[in-house]
This record gives sequence, structure tokens and C-alpha cells, in this order.
Amino acid sequence: MSLFDELRHDLITYLDREQIEVIHRAYLLASDAHKHQHRRSGEPYITHPLAVAHILCSLRMDYQSISAAILHDTMEDTPIEKNQLIEEFGQEIADLVDGVSKLTQIEFTTREQAQAENFRKMLLAMSRDIRVILVKLADRLHNMRTLGGLPPAKQRQKAIETLEIYAPIASRLGMYAFKMELEELGLATLYPFRYRVLQTALEHVTKTRQAAVTQIETALKSCLEKHHLPPSAIWYHQRHLYTLYKKMKREHLSFQEVIDFFSFRIIVDNIDDCYRALGAIHNLYRPIPEHFRDYIALPKTNHYQALHTTLFGPNGTPIEIQIRTAEMDEKAEQGITAHLIFKKGKTLKEIQSHTQNWLQGLMDLQQQNTDNPVEFIENVKIDLTPKEVYVFTPKGRIMELPLGATPVDFAYAIHSDIGNACIASKVDKRLVPLSTPLSNGQTIEIITAPGARPNPAWLSFIMTSKARSHIKNYLKELNHSESVALGERLLKGALKIMGTTLSKFPHHALKSTASELGYPSKEALYEAIGLGNQIATVVALHLAEQNDTITPPSKKKKRALIIKGNEGRILRFAECCHPIPGDPIAGFFETGQGVVVHTKNCPEAARTQTHNEPEHYLPVRWGETPEGDFKVKITVEVINQRGVLAQITTAISDADADIQNVNIEEHDGNYCSLHFTILVRNRTHLARVFRRLHSLNVVSRLARR
Ligand code: MN
Repeated sequence: MSLFDELRHDLITYLDREQIEVIHRAYLLASDAHKHQHRRSGEPYITHPLAVAHILCSLRMDYQSISAAILHDTMEDTPIEKNQLIEEFGQEIADLVDGVSKLTQIEFTTREQAQAENFRKMLLAMSRDIRVILVKLADRLHNMRTLGGLPPAKQRQKAIETLEIYAPIASRLGMYAFKMELEELGLATLYPFRYRVLQTALEHVTKTRQAAVTQIETALKSCLEKHHLPPSAIWYHQRHLYTLYKKMKREHLSFQEVIDFFSFRIIVDNIDDCYRALGAIHNLYRPIPEHFRDYIALPKTNHYQALHTTLFGPNGTPIEIQIRTAEMDEKAEQGITAHLIFKKGKTLKEIQSHTQNWLQGLMDLQQQNTDNPVEFIENVKIDLTPKEVYVFTPKGRIMELPLGATPVDFAYAIHSDIGNACIASKVDKRLVPLSTPLSNGQTIEIITAPGARPNPAWLSFIMTSKARSHIKNYLKELNHSESVALGERLLKGALKIMGTTLSKFPHHALKSTASELGYPSKEALYEAIGLGNQIATVVALHLAEQNDTITPPSKKKKRALIIKGNEGRILRFAECCHPIPGDPIAGFFETGQGVVVHTKNCPEAARTQTHNEPEHYLPVRWGETPEGDFKVKITVEVINQRGVLAQITTAISDADADIQNVNIEEHDGNYCSLHFTILVRNRTHLARVFRRLHSLNVVSRLARR
């Protein structure tokens, strides 16, 4: 029999011929794509995807899942691309394969417990379609079964990942058979010695108990038959090794203590018989009070149903009994897959809507029992309507952010200082605009610069309230101190024009002037002047009249305000033209914003001048040697090649200018424009920056904006 025929043999029990034909085509493509590859064990690679398909076939999954299982490593390991899969197998199967490939690319490296939970959520969120995670679980199961070929370090890493990530996911999806096997394989790989000791102990116990088990089983059976309830199945349930191991660790118990009971399962025809069987066996052995649970009338949140009871056994050893119907048993073993099982005559749509209903039911149940939250439901919720996105820091930490979050949100989530100083971001090592929405599984790096500050424009795209409140606070703080300082300076200037100075007035004079004008404090008055809500000359006159030191002001000509630097940002330099020392400039009061300095030829300034009253105009000029650095925007058009950004940024900083921000605009494959905001001292300095950039042969065009 060929490799595929074995699978076909099982597929024909529940799939149509046309569906099996699709799976066969998937097999032909995959076996051709993998034909030169081998597993470490030496077998042809195609044996692995076939085995994964077989696992899913045993769960009676639909033909799309089985096809995806066969193709699951083609996108990762062979030149086959998604487009080809769409063409040959349609969007649905291609999406499944793509989904599995994305999960495969992500490796869990951190050992932190809390991170494991986020990692599980991320995988579920990335899966979207629950079938993706099922294919991935089957893939992992087969890899764990055939782990021997890998080097020991790799084996350990896979085992940790399996125990911390995949087994809990299987458990949440109610797939207990998967969970048990993954856990045992994980334990055996990670702690081979402990595993062997426990296994030997368990075998020993099983042997010595054989007689007792048979005795109890026979007693149960004849008791049920006597009550006309012949069970369709009854069996001794051996606790799984990993379950026992976890209980020993958690409760600090010895092996003897955790193994000290018998456990049986009884399957009967219908719900009625479940209760009658319970009554019958309570007559056989005395039940232990408080140990009875009716999960049929009150199912668990994951829809698990059964009757649980514990009895005093013949020699004092407790006997745990679970009674349920065959249907309940199937659901308990296969969990979510029981709902995905492909039944003949049912369309895919029906199956999906059935599953959807099942998940919806879980969520409704969850809402009613808010005091009993089950993580499983949380995860299912994410899966159906993802509201979060999970991304990595460069060190591999996982951060949970709301859907649509951007690198700025990420920066603030790490630390407000990083958010406040961020200028650019890399996603998976590529520079992207700060407004780019993040996707699951990406690695985000934030580039900061000393002296950078939050940009008000960020408020239009950020998603998190943390980023929003930090940016707003920062801007408010900045506005306030700026306005106060400017107001004080303007008042002093106005007094100077009147031939006096602030120091000539008694200490309380300014305070009383402030309260007369309706301000609670001197500071509030300064702020009002700085924001343009009060005219400095008016306040100066008021102050002078009150205090009897009048010198009539010369109203004819306003004296220019000298700009000595960007001293604590007393003045605001317009964002449209970014004046720097050397540029001809003009100042304007803007209500609520204080004085804004534009370049003389700025169109925005011309507009302000014609529309506002003359008192809004404020002559300004540069001082001798203005101190500090001034923002200016430049555009550098470059040939798009590797490392070009590094070359440009190095040239700029070699010319002694700081970069505050960069935006990248790609034109076609060959050129891109880099829009920088840089800090320079004056026009001469800017010219030096330009000379440096011109000397690079990747630069094709250079302009100040
Ligand atoms: Mn694989």
C-alpha cells in the first residue's frame, strides 16, 4: 500500500470521493515539494504531514483541515507560496495553511509563568479559525512522538513549549486525549528519570491491584444488571502519569498518597439510566457524602456532563465513579472537535454554525456566572472577536495591546519615558511609520532620541488611554509653563516701553492687579498674557495707574521682542515653517496659544496678518547669537537600498544635528523620501548639514520644507 492509500482507507469511512480527491491533490503537491527533504530519522519528509493528517482523520475532521494538514509545512519549508495554494485549493485551505505557518514561525523562549498565558492567548488570537490551532496541535503531537531525532537542547525546548503552551490549549479546547499524550511525552522528555520511576511505580500498582479491580468491576456490573441497567461499557480508569505527577508536586504528596483510590467509568444508554445506575451502585457501596456532583443537571462551563460520586470500597480504598452516556463520553474526550466532526450529509456551513452556537452558548453561560470565570471562554472570545493584539519586545516579552494599537501605544505601554522620547519604530526589523497598526506576533523596536517630545498629531491614531493621558499631560504641562514665562516676559517688555520696570512696583502690586482683572494669582495673569487672552500693554497700564508711576506709553511703535534663543520654549515656533535663526521672522498672538513665530514669507503668517487685528501682530527679531537648538524639517530623497537610512542618519549626526523624527515615504522600488525633523542652531548650521548630505551619492534631492 502506498503512503497515501493508508490514509485513504480511513478517509472513505466518512468523506465523499470528491473531497478525498482534493486531499489526494494536496498529497501530490506536498510530496513533490518535500521530495528532497528528510526527517532527522531518515524517513522521507512527507511521512510527517501525512501522519498529522492521519491524527486529524481519527478526529473525523473535515477535508479542508486534512488537506491543510498535508500542506502545513509547504509554505514554511519549500518555495510554494500562498497564491499557488489559493489557485489550486481555494482561499479556505490556503488560509488554513497560512495560519499554521504563522504559528510555526513563533517560538516560545521565555520561562516566565505569566508570559506563558499571554503566549497561549496570542496563538489562539492568531488562529482566528479554530481549525488552524487543531492542525497545529496535531502537528505538535506528531513532532513530540518523533522527538528522538533532535539534539537534546532542542528536545527540551520543544518539551517545555508543549507542557506550558500546547497541552493547556488542548485542555481548554476540551481535547483531553491530546492533552494527556502531549503531557506524558513532555514529561518523559524533560524529566526522563522521574518519568521512568513513576512509570515503574504505576505499573507495579496496576499489577498488584489487578485482582481488586476485577472484583469491583464484576460487582458493579452484576449490580447494574440486577437492576435491569446493563451498561454499554464499564472500565477501570487509570489516572494519567502527568496528572499524578502534578498532583504530587502541587499538594506535596507521595506517590502512594495520590494513587490511593480506584476510578471507574460507566457508560449507559440515556440520561434516565445515569440516575438509576447511580441509585443502584449507592446501594452496593456506601457513598462518601459531599463527594457527589451532578454535572448532568448542572454541566461544567465547557459543557462537560456526567455524574460523579465516590464510594467506600471493599477494603476501605475509595472508588471514584463517573456515569455518563456514550454521547457525553465522546464530547468529553474530543472536546471542541466533537462539534467539528464531519458527518455525511451535513454541509460545512451547518457544522460551522453548530460550532459557533456551541461557543456562543459558552459565552452566554459565562456571562451568567461571572463569579466563576473560566479562562477557556476568555480565549474562545478572543478567537471569535479578537479585541487584542499580542506583540513581542526585542527581548521576547509579550505585550498585550488593544486591536489597532500602534508603535506609540507600544512605547507608552513599556514606559512613559520611552513613549515621550520615541521618534521612530521598527516592526520585524523594518522601519515603519509610528501610526502603523500592529499585528499579532510582530516584534517591535522603538527608537528614541534625547530631547524628542510627544507629537500632538499622535492623539489622532493612538488606541490606549495610557498613551493618551501621558501625551495630553505632557502637552498641557508644556503649554502652561511656556505661557507663564512668555506672559511675564511680555509684561516686562510692555513696562520697559513705558520707561519703567517690574522691580519698581511693590511686591503686592502685581497680585492686586491680577485679582482686579479677575485672576487668582500672578501666575494665572502671566498665563493669560502669554496665551493672548490679555494684552500686555493693557496690564502694564493698569499696573502703572494703580501704582502711580505713570510714564505715558508711546503707542506709536511697538518695539520688537528680541529672541535670544528657544529659552525654555517661551515662544512657539510655527509648525508650518519652522523658523531658525537667520530667517526673517514675524510674531503673532494666537488666542489661547500665545505668541507664535513664523518666517516672514510663510503663507500661513500672511494669512494670519490679513485676518487679525493689528494688536495681534508682534514684531520679533533674532538676538545676536540665539541659544539652543531649533526644529527644522527637511526632505531627503534617496535611492532605496539597504542601509541607506543608517548612512543618512549618521551624516546628520556627524554634522552635529539631532534627529527628532523621521517619516518614510516609498515612491517606487527605487526611490524613497525621508522626511526628517532635525534640530539645528541656525541657518549656517543647516547649510553644513546639507553639505554633508550632498556629499553622499545615495542622496538624489534635498530640500527644506
Ligand atoms: Mn510540521
